[in-house]
Amino acid sequence: MRFETLAVHAGRGPDSATGALVTPIYQTSTFVFEDIGKTRGYDYSRSGNPTRRALEDSLVALEGGRSCCASATGMAAETTVIHLLRRGDHVICGDDIYGGTYRLFSSVMQEYGLEFTFLRLDKRLALEQAIRPNTRMIWLETPSNPLLNITDIEMVTDVARKRDIITVADNTFATPYFLQPINHGVDIVVHSTTKYLNGHCDVVSGAIVTASSELGERVHFLLNAMGTCASPFDCWLVLRGIKTLAPRMRMHQENALKVSEFLSRHPKVRRVFYPGLATHPGHDIAKKQMRGFGGMVSFEVNGDLNSVHALLRNLRVISLAESLGGADSLVEHPMTMSHLSMPLEARKAAGITDQLVRLSVGLENGDDLVEDLENALKFV
Ligand SMILES: *Cc1c(COP(=O)(O)O)cnc(C)c1O
Repeated sequence: MRFETLAVHAGRGPDSATGALVTPIYQTSTFVFEDIGKTRGYDYSRSGNPTRRALEDSLVALEGGRSCCASATGMAAETTVIHLLRRGDHVICGDDIYGGTYRLFSSVMQEYGLEFTFLRLDKRLALEQAIRPNTRMIWLETPSNPLLNITDIEMVTDVARKRDIITVADNTFATPYFLQPINHGVDIVVHSTTKYLNGHCDVVSGAIVTASSELGERVHFLLNAMGTCASPFDCWLVLRGIKTLAPRMRMHQENALKVSEFLSRHPKVRRVFYPGLATHPGHDIAKKQMRGFGGMVSFEVNGDLNSVHALLRNLRVISLAESLGGADSLVEHPMTMSHLSMPLEARKAAGITDQLVRLSVGLENGDDLVEDLENALKFV
């Protein structure tokens, strides 16, 4: 079945007890045993819950994976996955990643004896040279946050496979509608379902999809042991969001293209980062491995911090807020907001400048978004 059909139907079915079309919210902590040692498939909601299961099955189908665990947040998904490793293991991680991922790795996991190398994953040789005898994982994000850099996934998985290194892709920005990393050889996909998968800015949640059932069992063991699982209500909201994922992503992309073309022509804009533009350095690889380019656009304002503030203060339709992937268009300043947890040197090395602004292009009329930007840029 095709993507749109899977998005509406996979993992769901009429409820076995009542025939309800929509998967109910099984808001229960525990399940009554039928007899000693005999359950109906569930015993305690940390280890498994029918609403969570429906979401997990839906994501397995959409990502083309074998197994899924829905987690409390995107960071809970990452925390769970990084615990597949043990003290002394080394991770190679993209250098232009979600700020919270950088913080988890550099400020928390490093303290527990994991080693990290942050590296731009665009050159095979540089990647191979960064590999150490104890390298166990390569972590990538494509398109990346906030610069929308594109990583050639098959280049990375080819390097990793020869050395038995686990590859992890954060697929939050692209979503399985535009990119299925497992089809390009990735072992584990992580999501902040807070973003496009839920799509309405009304939940914080995450997911882990694995390419093999063996890895899936290890992840599920950790999820249950660490208690990082998602609540039934949050799963239900994400399940509802997924039904409209395909048309939403098409419209996010249509609007993002319109906005990025407008910004590219504007004299007060220095650079635009959108993989859908032919001028983007990752455009060809994006075209090769993705079905589309997504709804995130970053750009640099011509000027200083005051110019950025003038822009942010004068937008009327687009709200100044962190997060992304919802119906509402959002704008943020990575330097002082989403990437504040990254030290200045790391930010500079990744190319995140003071003038960089990130847009999550929403589902409003694209012309209204362009007019909002056009008006605010007059104050820059
Ligand atoms: C938001 C985000 C996360 C973290 O997810 P939460 O749900 O906020 O915990 C991880 N990766 C990316 C790319 C994100 O945008």
